[in-house]
Amino acid sequence: MSAPITAFSFDNTYANSLDGFYLPASAAGFPDPTLIKFNTELAQELGLDPSTLAGEHGAAIFSGNTALEGATPLAQAYAGHQFGGFSPQLGDGRAILLGEIVDIHGKRRDVQLKGAGPTPFSRRGDGRATLSSVLREYLLGEAMHGLGIPTTRALAAVTTGEPVARDGYVPGAVLTRVAASHIRVGTFQFFAARGDEEKVRTLADYTIARHYPACAEAEHPYLALLLAVAKAQAELIARWMHVGFIHGVMNTDNATVSGETIDYGPCAFMDTYDLATVFSSIDTGGRYAYGNQPDIGKWNIARFAETLLPLIDEDTEAAIARGHEALDAFTEHYERAWLDGMRAKLGLAQPTDDDLAVATGLLSIAAAQTADYTSVFRALAHAARGDQAPATALLGDAQGFQPWVDAWLARLDADPRTRAAIADDMDQVNPIYIPRNHKTEQALRAAVQDDDFEPFDALLAAVSKPFTERPELASLAAPAPMEFYPYRTFCGT
Ligand code: AMP
Ligand code: MG
Repeated sequence: MSAPITAFSFDNTYANSLDGFYLPASAAGFPDPTLIKFNTELAQELGLDPSTLAGEHGAAIFSGNTALEGATPLAQAYAGHQFGGFSPQLGDGRAILLGEIVDIHGKRRDVQLKGAGPTPFSRRGDGRATLSSVLREYLLGEAMHGLGIPTTRALAAVTTGEPVARDGYVPGAVLTRVAASHIRVGTFQFFAARGDEEKVRTLADYTIARHYPACAEAEHPYLALLLAVAKAQAELIARWMHVGFIHGVMNTDNATVSGETIDYGPCAFMDTYDLATVFSSIDTGGRYAYGNQPDIGKWNIARFAETLLPLIDEDTEAAIARGHEALDAFTEHYERAWLDGMRAKLGLAQPTDDDLAVATGLLSIAAAQTADYTSVFRALAHAARGDQAPATALLGDAQGFQPWVDAWLARLDADPRTRAAIADDMDQVNPIYIPRNHKTEQALRAAVQDDDFEPFDALLAAVSKPFTERPELASLAAPAPMEFYPYRTFCGT
């Protein structure tokens, strides 16, 4: 191992104040690390100097081969409900938290290596990640960031030079993940399941200080924390629904208390609008189907509430009653956030009592026509500009389409903005480029099998600016051909 590098100004509150919540871990060390992707924009946001992190130097750091001065490499303990069944002992089996950096906006961010080797929580796993899964997480996370949706992000991707055993041997890689924190509902469950109320309290106090400092001033800080997390998760899931994102594995260990999207395993974007859409090969019951996500989000908040009950009130009945209030609050936040977002997608600036019916009316038509969800909203913007042909091509055969458009256009005419201005505003919230499943698969295949990163880079560039139409990228905007389906995704280990 070479001399430590001082490029990162670590300030590790998790390691320093949460003794007992993690175990030390160290990277495995790899024979031939190569830096294949580096996120310059994110590096700058973190106050890092990108020029010092390029090439071999970056490869040594982001593979974990070189220790960073000030890092306190550790694996976090957590539990989790997976597909509804409780596992009391999960933890970071293939992720190593290096530490925290305060970014240029004053925001504390975790820096974590994913796939850098086994940890004390690895159980039978190898602690490795495949290049395909690393690139997928890189791409999908940046796409979500481009859409303005809270998410963990990728700072770097490194190939290790070491094949990993999956279905045969495939190239191994390490992702450097940046997150507001990696505290999950499952982190609370780990200590609650052991009846360790003091540890839950310590974690709750830490979470309040780090993510929701205003809760400390509330009359009931732990109830305030519960409500804050319920709101963050409700708003997050509403955002997923607006863009047709299906997380695929909404286990409580994959639900952050910060409200960031985390763990891009079997996730994918829906093409055809259908609430029953499931892509994950292991989600045979459809528990995490597109349309179930709000209910599952609420279910996860119920599990979070359970961990906090003893802190909320000594009287269990009273605590449970407060917990139910939080679940009701989740529903209210979700419904409000969803409708607000749909108004923006439809260019409706002035809320009216009809808006829910307008939004659901459109979605029924889209469902009946098995229309491409993303395309519908860009087509409506064209209709607002006076060209109804794209919308008619997508939805025109459905009963009720023309009356719906006429009523919607009449609504727009009551708006002081011009129709063109409304259409431009709609285009600011309705993406034209999402990581289309067939394009994602094609890009990953080219990178992994042929060492050809051109399709990946093109797709990454497109989805990083998802609202800006570029005619040369037209092929990335189109849905997958029907032959592409059925599509199956895998928990990318
Ligand atoms: P995930 O499905 O990625 O959220 O992971 C669920 C659990 O399995 C977590 O505790 C992971 O750390 C662990 N895990 C996943 N893949 C591996 C691996 N290759 N080696 C060790 N642990 C793993
Ligand atoms: Mg996970």
